[in-house]
Amino acid sequence: MAGKRTASVALATAKQAILEYAKRKGALAAGVADLDAIERIAPPGHRPSDIMPHVRSVISLGVGGQTQGAWTVPAKAMAYFGSTESRAYTAAYGLAFFIEDRFRARSVYCPPDLDNEAGPRVPLQSLKLHAELAGIGARSLAGDILLHPDFGYMYFASVFTELELPPDEPMAENPCPTPSCVSLYRKTGQTPCMRFCPVQCLSGVIDDDGQQAQMHYDMAKCAEMSQQYEGMPGLIADAINALEPGAQEDALFDPDNKMVWYKMSVGSGGLLAQCFECMRVCPIAINAPLADPIRRAEARERGES
Ligand code: SF4
Ligand code: SF4
Repeated sequence: MAGKRTASVALATAKQAILEYAKRKGALAAGVADLDAIERIAPPGHRPSDIMPHVRSVISLGVGGQTQGAWTVPAKAMAYFGSTESRAYTAAYGLAFFIEDRFRARSVYCPPDLDNEAGPRVPLQSLKLHAELAGIGARSLAGDILLHPDFGYMYFASVFTELELPPDEPMAENPCPTPSCVSLYRKTGQTPCMRFCPVQCLSGVIDDDGQQAQMHYDMAKCAEMSQQYEGMPGLIADAINALEPGAQEDALFDPDNKMVWYKMSVGSGGLLAQCFECMRVCPIAINAPLADPIRRAEARERGES
């Protein structure tokens, strides 16, 4: 009995060291998801044990989204620099090394990438599910983007480990929708994210208590805006099949299409970034108390974080 208690204290201490590492490396929030719950919810082929057979814990971390200034620029500029997900991946990569070094437990950075057997819209793993169950974000009416009441909109990364850490709970309350979103919904039938989505791919229902009752997200419409890599085979096919003189040149050198070649050549996130307009108008993404570096610095000055 005493041995078990000692082991659980050691694991709680290990968890604290792991979460502290994540925060030192730039995570605003980090937690451990309930592995059994992920294994139950995720479809076969996309469970943590499908990637790492002896996994015992899933750690999720979130880094801050945009700077405050990023929300002031036009969409065409934001498509290039809005994303901070690579910082999350770097922190998670380092965390896997940290756990192996410090605790001698096999660990792996969970690839955030798409499943090469399932096509370009199916990820290997749902980082969103990991983060939700780890208690660092709740599903919003904006296509289930996770939001946090303090940090707003974050980017997530996960680490799998054979170290058995005590899990956290999902967030008890969902900050979405905010009272101002409910009020707009009552007047117009849409919340800000729904109203300002350029392709109208979001819809949903808010119940009498101001809570989410339904959320609909048309992934195909959103993908047309935000996953430009999907259009490339079509561009190439147009060029190959062009019959009229000049049509091939148009297909390859049309200014819009040339932008795709440009983005490929510089590895731009604009090829696979969301368009951000749903988050630009989201009161939580924009106004959460620690949503951006300016707000976080002000909170530090006030001694609040
Ligand atoms: S990323 Fe753009 S297209 Fe997709 S839901 Fe948000 S606003 Fe709509
Ligand atoms: S704007 Fe933000 S808080 Fe409001 S409903 Fe949409 S996602 Fe939720």
